[in-house]
Amino acid sequence: MVERKCIMAVGAHSADMEFSAGATLLKHALNGWEVHIVHLTLGEKGNHQLSPEEYGAQKRRESEAAAEILQAKPHFLPYKDGELTVSDEIACEIAKLIRKLQPQIVITHWRDSIHTDHTATYHLTRRAIFMAANPHFDIDNLPTARWIRFYYAENWEDHENFRPFVYVDISDVFEDWERAFKCFAIGRGEGGFPYWDWYQSQTRIRGIEIGVRYAQAFAVDDWRMRQKRDLL
Ligand SMILES: [Zn+2]
Repeated sequence: MVERKCIMAVGAHSADMEFSAGATLLKHALNGWEVHIVHLTLGEKGNHQLSPEEYGAQKRRESEAAAEILQAKPHFLPYKDGELTVSDEIACEIAKLIRKLQPQIVITHWRDSIHTDHTATYHLTRRAIFMAANPHFDIDNLPTARWIRFYYAENWEDHENFRPFVYVDISDVFEDWERAFKCFAIGRGEGGFPYWDWYQSQTRIRGIEIGVRYAQAFAVDDWRMRQKRDLL
């Protein structure tokens, strides 16, 4: 029997995971993995011309279009942009998805961010992974999900103390990732911040660091860097 393989990315706002880990997710899809992108909020307060309702609807459409290119299934949780707090109620909703989907890998934000929603997402996702693994948390009678490996994606807003450890060569999916990226108006440079310039440059720099054209880099917790050897 072929083992079912599943990877899940949890972002604070629609576009966060597509920008920081989208190419890596697509690579997994092309290698037979089921891919899920969880959006805690739509990032609906990020446009000064449109109302949160209008921009939220637009972000949702953009995420769906990007997910199709990335061969991922999007999940939209009902929380509000700019108002995420670390609560067991939200962690439990993420844990519910983790137990339903049983991913082997979860990607989320790095801890030190200039955006409080991102920092909250880091804590919420870690808490959810803990709750999903412990049988004493009764979460809709769902089976526990254990031994999840988790990684932190490289996001321009989460760069303080971010130390890349695992690099994924994304050269062969770069163009598809760019198409997914540009499903978002902010990915096409509308709205002021040059997202594409930053992510394109950063993936090139990470590529140079490992001797390929483009790479996405991920941080891990310090304890996961331990290596057991008999000799150096
Ligand atoms: Zn964000």
